[in-house]
Amino acid sequence: MGYSFEKLPQLVDMRGKLPSNGSYVNVGVNAKTTRVWHHSLTNSDLAGSTAEAFARFHVTGNGWPGIGYHFVVEPKNLIKGPDGRMRARIVWAHDPGVKSYHVGNSNKQAVGICVAGDYRSEKLAEATLLTISELHAAFIRDGIGKEDKAHNEMPGYSWKPCCVFDYRAAFYFNPPVKVVQPAPLPGEYVIQEGDTFFSIAGQDGPAGITTEDLIAANPDVDPRKLKVGQVIKLGKAKNAHTPVPGTPKKPQETYKYPLPAGVLKSGAKGEAVKQLQRALDAVYFKSGVNDGSYGPKTVDAVKRFQMVYLPYEVDGVYGPNTRKRLQAVLKSKGY
Ligand SMILES: [Zn+2]
Repeated sequence: MGYSFEKLPQLVDMRGKLPSNGSYVNVGVNAKTTRVWHHSLTNSDLAGSTAEAFARFHVTGNGWPGIGYHFVVEPKNLIKGPDGRMRARIVWAHDPGVKSYHVGNSNKQAVGICVAGDYRSEKLAEATLLTISELHAAFIRDGIGKEDKAHNEMPGYSWKPCCVFDYRAAFYFNPPVKVVQPAPLPGEYVIQEGDTFFSIAGQDGPAGITTEDLIAANPDVDPRKLKVGQVIKLGKAKNAHTPVPGTPKKPQETYKYPLPAGVLKSGAKGEAVKQLQRALDAVYFKSGVNDGSYGPKTVDAVKRFQMVYLPYEVDGVYGPNTRKRLQAVLKSKGY
């Protein structure tokens, strides 16, 4: 016997078909008390605003076993129902009983629904509202969860701009929706299950905190080894790396380890490569060479660096993103 949500015409079952690297535990639907509503903070019409793209980001960027959400609503993919009305597509990503990562320490009790879009600036389209209200009604019929919460109504996440739309109004398809402001960013943050620097900063960073800021402000924290309960600087990390707007940029030659601009890769030679090798050495990603020649040892050092600080771009090529993270790590070591 299946669930009634399975009969929604706009639902596609993609369980087991999205990018993954391992699997989450299924704790059973009876463990689920809370339906947690998210938005993706990516504009709903972007190519990346799909369950597929979120799954790739969660797996390669956050190092999670699979997509964090159980359901993703995709406003840009419209499906016409038997009544002729358009509905936003629902991607079914996990059984409701699966304990995936989307609300830290509450993952076990929570079913995650992500509505693609950035509702700090966008409005929910009618097709999206219809889908949210139908999916919610199905959850009630199916006995999945007992209450609804926004991500930022869950313990520890009051600062998160997620989801800022009024999800309760959406259940009753009652536009216009009002925008809910998240609480101010706390100075410090306690690590919850599944958190990474990359997931905490989010795609564009809550309130302007970037991954680079987190790295620079938390020099003693190894981003590979975050522990539940560990305290990191969050609000206090603001502008730790990202300069305060209006601050003139320091020229690279004034740094102890200036970083070359542009792209460097296997086969490159010269002073720029030497600078890169020196900088990597200084932050303990030793290449063992300082010969200005981008050979296998340099590729290996860059890859090791990327595995830690840029896990979705491990290609051994030095470019603008590697440069930004390397600059942040140098800064965190006092250079
Ligand atoms: Zn969220």
